[in-house]
Amino acid sequence: MSHTVIIGNGISGVTAARHIRKRSDDRITIISAETDHFFSRTALMYIYMGHMTYENTKPFEDHFWSKNRIDLMREYVSTIDYAKKTLQFSNGGTLAYDKLILAVGSKPNKFGWPGQDLDGVQGLYSYQDLELLERNTHGPLVKYPVKKKVKRAVLVGGGLIGVEFAEMLMTRDIEVTFLVREDRFWGNVLPKEEGELVARHMIEHHVDLRLNTELAEVIPDENGRAKAIKTKDGETIECQLVGLTAGVSPNVAFLRGGELEIDRGILVDEYLKTNIADVYAIGDCAQMRNPSKGRRPLEQVWYTGRMMGETVGATLTGTPTPYKPGYWFNSAKFFDIEYQTYGTVPARDLDGLSEFYWEHPDGKICIKIVFETATRRFHGINTFGIRMRHERFDKWLNEERSVDHIMEYLADANFDPEFYRKHEKAVVYKFNAEQGTSIIPKKRSWKRIFSIA
Ligand SMILES: Cc1cc2nc3c(=O)[nH]c(=O)nc-3n(C[C@H](O)[C@H](O)[C@H](O)COP(=O)(O)OP(=O)(O)OC[C@H]3O[C@@H](n4cnc5c(N)ncnc54)[C@H](O)[C@@H]3O)c2cc1C
Repeated sequence: MSHTVIIGNGISGVTAARHIRKRSDDRITIISAETDHFFSRTALMYIYMGHMTYENTKPFEDHFWSKNRIDLMREYVSTIDYAKKTLQFSNGGTLAYDKLILAVGSKPNKFGWPGQDLDGVQGLYSYQDLELLERNTHGPLVKYPVKKKVKRAVLVGGGLIGVEFAEMLMTRDIEVTFLVREDRFWGNVLPKEEGELVARHMIEHHVDLRLNTELAEVIPDENGRAKAIKTKDGETIECQLVGLTAGVSPNVAFLRGGELEIDRGILVDEYLKTNIADVYAIGDCAQMRNPSKGRRPLEQVWYTGRMMGETVGATLTGTPTPYKPGYWFNSAKFFDIEYQTYGTVPARDLDGLSEFYWEHPDGKICIKIVFETATRRFHGINTFGIRMRHERFDKWLNEERSVDHIMEYLADANFDPEFYRKHEKAVVYKFNAEQGTSIIPKKRSWKRIFSIA
């Protein structure tokens, strides 16, 4: 019986295991150094804030794994002998595989800042990071919290994990100063207006947001614990905790230096195969050699991990299946404001593209639509504070619809609950005024929404 070994029990590894089990009787082993069981990484913040327990974040009962004949091992893989198809564990043990799936995830970025490894400086990625945060911030769940009370934290790097980190700390009355190197929040992803909207919202939530501000160093106290940070402008900010949230990168350090081809992530082809026979890579750690149109080589989000797990599961059970994620989409939350994006909305450099932006007078709801200037073909949309239907935008992108078509049928894409205020009229009114069009927005039609035609 063929033995498939998966390193990593996150969404990608676990999805691969489930799909291999559905389609074969192969022996399957999942190895993780982090936790005994799969849990939802995206729910880490809710454990900290007391909305959920760790047990609540496990999508499967503990008996699911034995019932489905998926062996779980809590080990750290230190090296891999690809010629002998054997893994070596840090405790000295070994395990042989026939096929290997690397699903080893990410790690928080550190950019060599002086003081980045001091006590009281941490990222937020793993379950162990959450435990450390509990200790560092006097969590009610830990026996031995650090003695020093945390009054102020400084977060470094503006992205989604940073916003969650800020929200978490503020539920414990910890003041947050947020250093963002760019001129807007999440500046490598959000265009100017959206970045400014998020920044305003964070300031409303009493985040001390510092744009165009870079960390120079973390300053230790006499016990080697962070007591302040210094910015590149020379300002010193006292703090008792420093959160590093300047993005994540593939967790591949332990795999470097051997035959496995690694760039920023583990290089894979469209079948998620690495350069080594019978070795595949999926999820956050995988870097596509040739990403499909409109997609990036590295995409470190939950649903791409799930899609890759499903794809590799099919390939390894006799149905070679290329990874085809379709058009880009994503969603997130910035405190109270929901964000969605479909297609491509560049943060800068609109090269050959035009944009239309509408913002509600309350400054918390907006839509940005990007289209090709020459053809008016719809390219992508960002929405804040309005929920839109994914399948509708996917359809419009696949049908290569024009921006004018999107405007006419915008109401069909609205996914807000029934009694929410609708904004299509105001949006199209502004669009017509700016574009010289005379589009009359159609009322929402359930018939159209539920028909594929
Ligand atoms: C706080 C937070 C919030 C997030 N929120 C969102 C969100 O709202 N939406 C979204 O789309 N994405 C979100 N993400 C990103 C998302 O969680 C990741 O993209 C996804 O979990 C990655 O899954 P994965 O299976 O690739 O890897 P991981 O979940 O990282 O799993 C990899 C596992 O491999 C283990 N491992 C690594 N090396 C070894 C080794 N040598 N030996 C043994 N085990 C090893 C690791 O310990 C880990 O358990 C969030 C991430 C974080 C940290």
